[in-house]
Amino acid sequence: MVAQRQPDASKRPGFPARLDSVRGPGVPVRSPGPVAISGAHLSRQQQGLGMDSSAVRQSMVDKLAKQGVVDAQVLAAMASIERHRFVDSALVNQAYEDTSLPIGLGQTISKPGVVSRMLELLREGNNGRLGRVLEIGTGCGYQAAVLSLLATEVYSIERLRGLHDKARENLRHLRLANVHLLFGDGMAGYAKGAPYAGIIAAAGGEAVPQAWIDQLAMGARLVAPVSAGASSPAKQALVVIEKTPQGLRQTVMEAVHFVPLKSGVA
Ligand code: SAH
Repeated sequence: MVAQRQPDASKRPGFPARLDSVRGPGVPVRSPGPVAISGAHLSRQQQGLGMDSSAVRQSMVDKLAKQGVVDAQVLAAMASIERHRFVDSALVNQAYEDTSLPIGLGQTISKPGVVSRMLELLREGNNGRLGRVLEIGTGCGYQAAVLSLLATEVYSIERLRGLHDKARENLRHLRLANVHLLFGDGMAGYAKGAPYAGIIAAAGGEAVPQAWIDQLAMGARLVAPVSAGASSPAKQALVVIEKTPQGLRQTVMEAVHFVPLKSGVA
């Protein structure tokens, strides 16, 4: 559970993390080295210290919409969760670019474009909130936070203790009572929460584990990256599996690039 009541948001980096020292009018905006200020489209005033990140986030959401994301609830959730709070302070100013970023232990936070696309696929055909959802690969907890606005309950499993702890820390300030962080091997799913109204994986294996299919509710969907085959393990595609009374319906979508699904914990 992440619904602990310790306000610690002050420890998290603000946005932008760091700007060149206070600029007078007419002083050109310079990039502060590796912490590049994204959002050259913003006015100098907007780039000033103490800027609220919501303008940059809205601009990210506008781009997602242009890329073809149409689900208003997904876009609203992406506009609401502060992605910059989930990355290291050195990367804060890249947080609203459509790029994956390292989160430690060799793992990455997925691109906003991919997160919104997967959530849209997960929700397809649903006008209201999804019920209980299982996420495999908590990572830094960002997608779990977005999901918490779209589902009644989110069970999110991570196999790396370091990231499980990091997600707990990242999510604490949000006090999301409907997010349940679990440490374990997500290949086995999480039977105690089943059946799920949706299952979403942030790591790709060669096949979808049978446990995930078993734990999917009738009529529900699973969205996961799956490797194209043993011959080309690096090539992955997004796969949507629907459980219907007539059997499983699988649709292979576009190519994606996710970290590998691994078994066991570490
Ligand atoms: N949704 C995450 C993305 C993290 S990357 C975010 O928003 O940050 C995918 C994560 O899947 C990695 O942290 C990796 O450790 C984890 N993972 C890989 N195989 C797993 C498994 N079998 N069970 C649980 N987590 C797994």
